[in-house]
Amino acid sequence: MRRYEDKHIPVMPKEVIEHLIWKKDGVYVDCTVGEGGHTLLMASVSPNIFVIGLDIDSEVLTIAEKNLSGFSNVKLFKSSYVDLPVVLKALNIEKVSGVLIDLGISTYQLKAEGRGFTFNRDEPLDMRMNLEQKKTAYDVVNFYSEKELADIIFKYGEERFSRRIARSIVNSRPINSTLELVEAIRKALPPQEIRRRKRHFATKTFQAIRIEVNGELSNIEQFLNNVPDLLEISGRLAVISFHSLEDRLVKHFIKNSNKLRQIVGPIIPSKEEIDDNPRARSAKLRIAERI
Ligand code: SAH
Repeated sequence: MRRYEDKHIPVMPKEVIEHLIWKKDGVYVDCTVGEGGHTLLMASVSPNIFVIGLDIDSEVLTIAEKNLSGFSNVKLFKSSYVDLPVVLKALNIEKVSGVLIDLGISTYQLKAEGRGFTFNRDEPLDMRMNLEQKKTAYDVVNFYSEKELADIIFKYGEERFSRRIARSIVNSRPINSTLELVEAIRKALPPQEIRRRKRHFATKTFQAIRIEVNGELSNIEQFLNNVPDLLEISGRLAVISFHSLEDRLVKHFIKNSNKLRQIVGPIIPSKEEIDDNPRARSAKLRIAERI
């Protein structure tokens, strides 16, 4: 086991349960179990609720299994939410009453030693959510062309200085660790820009590389395309997103769908919640209903 001394706090727990669980004897899916925070709340509503939980990260799933060991109405699977139709088919379930997807990254991935998502410690450049996947952040940082890197940093990081950062990364190769990557980004930015930024100057580039390594936006698109046909009529979809790229995707998908109607949102966390759980800072919750 990796060293890990923290605990993930679920985002907008009350709001998720209030709007997702509209029926107290349905089958529900938590597509991103993480440490099991939301799954536990869903399963606690009633013993007549059955929760199917998925996560692509086998390490975080072992933590979830422990946290949920008292619940006989939960079943966990190591699977991508992209494959939700396959999982349900294997279980002989045609439609479910509600689906939750909490995008972004778990505290475990950020804080456990050596996963390479953080710019606060020196770690190998990994950033894979699925540890069986071959492509890591090292491959993206060291082998993508300057143009590919610039495009990714611009598109997925919404980073104004994407070209300069891409050039600096290419000039700093080989880059072996997270702090070497931070240093390449620092060299590309004017000092007054670094001082001006509210968040760490490497945040946007790290986000972009993480999205690229895990194919996050295309996963979300595939998931959204699948989900309406898996929901029973009046079934609910709850999406928690953490940046504008994700939220835009979700918002437009729901708006253009003739099978979904947004009924709540976007809800943002209260100031008290953000004080208690800084990870909630940029979260947005949207709830849609199957029509
Ligand atoms: N709601 C959880 C936290 C989820 S954090 C809680 O309250 O504890 C997001 C989780 O999504 C991470 O554990 C990550 O491994 C998982 N994830 C990322 N991409 C995934 C995918 N394609 N399929 C399934 N899970 C995924």
